[in-house]
Amino acid sequence: MSVHRDEHLEMCAGLALGNLDDDDRRILERHLAEGCPECEAALADFSSSVVALAASAEPATPSPALRARVLEAIANETPGDVSPAPPRSDERRVVPMSVRRPHWTSWAWAAAAAALAVVSALQWNAAERLRADLEVQRRQLADAERRLAEERRWAEVMSAPEARVADLVLTPAGVEALRARAVYDPKTKSAVIVFDHFAPPAGKDYELWAMRPDGVASLGLIKTDEQGRATMRLENLDAAETLSGFAVSLEPAGGSPNPKAPTGPVVMVGKLGG
Ligand SMILES: [Zn+2]
Repeated sequence: MSVHRDEHLEMCAGLALGNLDDDDRRILERHLAEGCPECEAALADFSSSVVALAASAEPATPSPALRARVLEAIANETPGDVSPAPPRSDERRVVPMSVRRPHWTSWAWAAAAAALAVVSALQWNAAERLRADLEVQRRQLADAERRLAEERRWAEVMSAPEARVADLVLTPAGVEALRARAVYDPKTKSAVIVFDHFAPPAGKDYELWAMRPDGVASLGLIKTDEQGRATMRLENLDAAETLSGFAVSLEPAGGSPNPKAPTGPVVMVGKLGG
């Protein structure tokens, strides 16, 4: 299949209007022979709009420049170029122009309107494509901006002057490789907690807990990547007076059924420093 280019569409329009020069016609025919769905669809489109507009009694008004170009093209046209019916064309040539003028002028208007429709269709297609491209770009940009703002916000949590850190330490029930560290920003009541070597044993999940004076509250399961790493970003946490630290328990898959109490062993605990 030959590569489709935008100029092929213009050639399709020319073909539908019957004013394609021989070179372009050969190029287009070679392109079409190799099969191009885009050009085939355009040809069908253009041909039907040319037929519809040529047949319509009240064609749209083309621009003066376009009208002049089409009138000129039609004045120069010899019908023998497009169809092998020479007797009629000879006849036409000997008829004085003043007599034929009303006839071909009205045809010219229809052709001009059809040409305008083709040009509009091309411009519309191009504009649609641009609009679609622009929309994709706009969405990607908005997405990137949103992610950047998000990263910035969490970077602020990590570097907040009032931030408090909790290095979680293993309990006797913990596996030696586990590592976890929490940074809590009292101003935004947000925390970033980083976990390493946290791939849970089969059929189990690690669950994070907030430690309060009156007990613990679940902060959710720790979902790691294949390397056992995870970063949890938590918002709407307790105020500094209430949140004393974090703990991790090893639970049956899916976590503790009770959001106020772990069922499995607590494997790590960390108190928030000042
Ligand atoms: Zn094509």
